[in-house]
Amino acid sequence: MSKPRIAILGMHLESNAFAPVTTGADFRASCYLVEDEIVAEAAKPAPAMPAEIPGFVADMDRAGTWEPVPIIVTATEPGGPVDHGFFTETMEAMRSRLARRLPLDAVYISNHGAMTSTGSLDPDGELFRMVRNVVGPRAPVVATVDLHANISDEMAASTDAIIAYRTNPHVDQAERAAEAARLLRRLLDGDRLAASFVRLPIVAPTVTLLTARGPYADLIEAGQAAIGDGLDIVSVVGGFAYSDTPKNGLAILAYGAGARPAQVTFDLARRAWADRERFQAQLTPVSEAVAAAVHAGLNEDEPAVCLADVADNPGGGGRGNTTEILEALIAAKAKSALLGLFIDPALAMQCHAAGEGSPIQATFNSSGAGEHARRFTESATVLKLGDGGVVGRRGTYRGRTVDLGACAALKIGNVTVAVASRRVQCADPAFLESLGLDIAAFRTVVVKSRGHFRAGFDEFFDDSQVVEVDAGGLVSPILSRIRFARLPRPVYPLDPETTWTPPRG
Ligand SMILES: [Zn+2]
Repeated sequence: MSKPRIAILGMHLESNAFAPVTTGADFRASCYLVEDEIVAEAAKPAPAMPAEIPGFVADMDRAGTWEPVPIIVTATEPGGPVDHGFFTETMEAMRSRLARRLPLDAVYISNHGAMTSTGSLDPDGELFRMVRNVVGPRAPVVATVDLHANISDEMAASTDAIIAYRTNPHVDQAERAAEAARLLRRLLDGDRLAASFVRLPIVAPTVTLLTARGPYADLIEAGQAAIGDGLDIVSVVGGFAYSDTPKNGLAILAYGAGARPAQVTFDLARRAWADRERFQAQLTPVSEAVAAAVHAGLNEDEPAVCLADVADNPGGGGRGNTTEILEALIAAKAKSALLGLFIDPALAMQCHAAGEGSPIQATFNSSGAGEHARRFTESATVLKLGDGGVVGRRGTYRGRTVDLGACAALKIGNVTVAVASRRVQCADPAFLESLGLDIAAFRTVVVKSRGHFRAGFDEFFDDSQVVEVDAGGLVSPILSRIRFARLPRPVYPLDPETTWTPPRG
């Protein structure tokens, strides 16, 4: 094939069933690119789009001639189920644009893979099926997904391969997209792969899915060690508990020749099940975490601490406005503490109205108060204002343009708070530095992030300095506190007595 025509499309949303509905306006405000806008954005030095797209385009360009057929790429921060009308409208727009551009030789799909809508528990599967139906059974269709995807039978059956991230914090999106590009080239040359897909009754707490070490890291490593000898691709997909769907569950997908993919998925499934007791969250109570912060403030010769407010991670659908840790730090008079990002547009506007250096009566959650997000007022000083335009410099957001909306740094006693207007997890030091904050100068830094901060703040805190705090919140890793309605039950570790018979290869 001299110049293959390859369609590119994607819709990224990680849906938390317990968060407010994600609207079309949310997608359009974050990333909604149509046709030529996609390749134009991908060519920019700091694209405002999922990192897979520039990664895919760059690898295809490197490997030879091709004709990109960009369709629609849209993405937004994790949130509630997408409004079904917007999902349907977007999928129909993709369908008609795909149909208009036929014939197509292949399709690359870049989705998150844990989307739900207000009318569907598997919009990713519907979208993958739509693509397959438009291009027919012979055109290769390869998808990349987040390792927090919940893989449905429909997603697996509608694609030639699904390739999941292998790093958490996620820093390999572009690499996985390049892997998809290489695979597509092979499939276009006529290769065909056997596939195997197994899903286990394990719904892992988010904090157990890190890939530097732990049970999930071991599974991913074992999968990669099996590559070769007829095995081409292995994806071990951890899943996203809070989507609360019947397709939740740790999933293993493998692609290669003959019976080998099935052997490998079965082998990995047996390993995962045997190791299931390690998928349990271990967190530190708020009182202990705040005591560590107070101690760090008083003992400057000892290491500083980083408290992760894992239960209020905007990257999982959290609102970024819970107050438990903040109030405890203020009450304990912790010295030299910094907390960010606190998402509160009204508070950011209050700071902007007052101006830098002004004393204010700062009201937190004047409009967004909720179960763990108390409304309260404290005397504060506005340190710095910002417009929220930031280019990430380290980790997951590196090289990407991010809009935090109107921002401010304010100080309450010894506690500095970085306030933003748009819901983004605090995973990159640049988000705080853009407000003139010197992270290394603080004795305690509280990040509203579950795990991605580790790849951004590792130059200030190694893992031994990180404390995962058991505060209340929408995305608490203590799953027994979440009112799940649609998970397959029994499921481990929610139901410790769960039994399962691994398949025999
Ligand atoms: Zn993820």
